Amino acid sequence: MSLQNPVFIPGPTNMPEVIRKACDMPTIDHRSPAFARMFKPAVEGVRRVLKMGEGEVIILPSTGTGGWEAAMTNTLSPGDTVLAARFGMFSHRWIDLCQRHGLNVQIIETPWGQGAPLAEIEAALKADTKGQIKAVLATHNETATGVKSDIGGIRRAMDAAGHDALFFVDGVSSIGSMPFEMGAWGVDIAVAGSQKGFMLPAGLAILGVSPKAIAAMETAKLPRTFFDFADMLKAYAAGGYPYTPAVGLIAGLAKAIEVLEDEGLENVYARHHRLAEGVRRAVAAWGMKPCAASADLYSETITAVVVPAGCNGTDLVKLAAEKYGVAFGVGLGEVAGKVFRIGHLGMLTDVMVLSGLACAEMCMADLGWPIKLGSGVAAAQEYYRGSTGAMALAAE
Ligand SMILES: *Cc1c(COP(=O)(O)O)cnc(C)c1O
Repeated sequence: MSLQNPVFIPGPTNMPEVIRKACDMPTIDHRSPAFARMFKPAVEGVRRVLKMGEGEVIILPSTGTGGWEAAMTNTLSPGDTVLAARFGMFSHRWIDLCQRHGLNVQIIETPWGQGAPLAEIEAALKADTKGQIKAVLATHNETATGVKSDIGGIRRAMDAAGHDALFFVDGVSSIGSMPFEMGAWGVDIAVAGSQKGFMLPAGLAILGVSPKAIAAMETAKLPRTFFDFADMLKAYAAGGYPYTPAVGLIAGLAKAIEVLEDEGLENVYARHHRLAEGVRRAVAAWGMKPCAASADLYSETITAVVVPAGCNGTDLVKLAAEKYGVAFGVGLGEVAGKVFRIGHLGMLTDVMVLSGLACAEMCMADLGWPIKLGSGVAAAQEYYRGSTGAMALAAE
């Protein structure tokens, strides 16, 4: 793998130099006021990126998966029922995590390529007249298929059913890259990780937790120690952590938020939309389709490209890595081999994306796939040339 080339995997993402440098710092005492001064802007910044209302930001030394585990164990008890749709590898893995913790998951099986089914969620909640369902889980951006779900729509479905379940959202591959409205959508726990939209190394689970979720801790009986929000909040109040925080990553997080806000969150979202649309134009020019079943479901951070019959997406990913030193994502689970994935989130520009499209085309030609070199690149070029939008990336 060449260290010069950008990666086109949907996380970890490319890291701006200024963010990497911010992580690289001398040792400080995490029980000193110096740490508290560093920590505060990171927490306040996360609050703005999530567009939280009331509630608490929790930053754990972990990854997105640990964020899921923390969400469940802090708010639920063994045997509790949660409602979740399964439509890709990440929604599946969250369900699996719940089951391993002894939760009863009411699963709405949904074809891969579709998003969270609002009508079925509403119907399931309406049918739950005894209030068994304690939480609704939603994967905002299913990274396996490149599908975004309508989180505001799920909130409306919950309200229409008059159900008071908690609402937990996996925003690991959307937060910081796609619009996210924790407060307006009535999300009780939002989960992000450091290595995707925040453009940091892996190592932090970043959570927004609503007052309702905090209140649920009182009765939640699932075991928890490392991830116990109560310990965290008590330590936060004293300006620190219950254990050793990932100090460098937290310094990097504060810088990452500065980088995002210098560009402007709305511009960041618009840039991701434009990058994604260029990729989709290329995919169409290749005569292929995204795995996402319809345009309203298209992710702005990742495109899973369905490969032609008789082709294997994993071959392309292997060749790109071995011959060209470029990373794309393989298909996972049900769509293994049937798709390859182009990640287009984080520190990327039009020009960087064009290089990835060009590399994908070289691999397709090498593999004898039926495409014309330059066809997708040209389609993306035309789109990028014609679309407006400040391309200035805050950090180089
Ligand atoms: C990457 C990802 C995760 C897993 O996060 P880790 O940081 O690898 O634990 C969970 N959900 C989604 C949607 C993701 O994209």
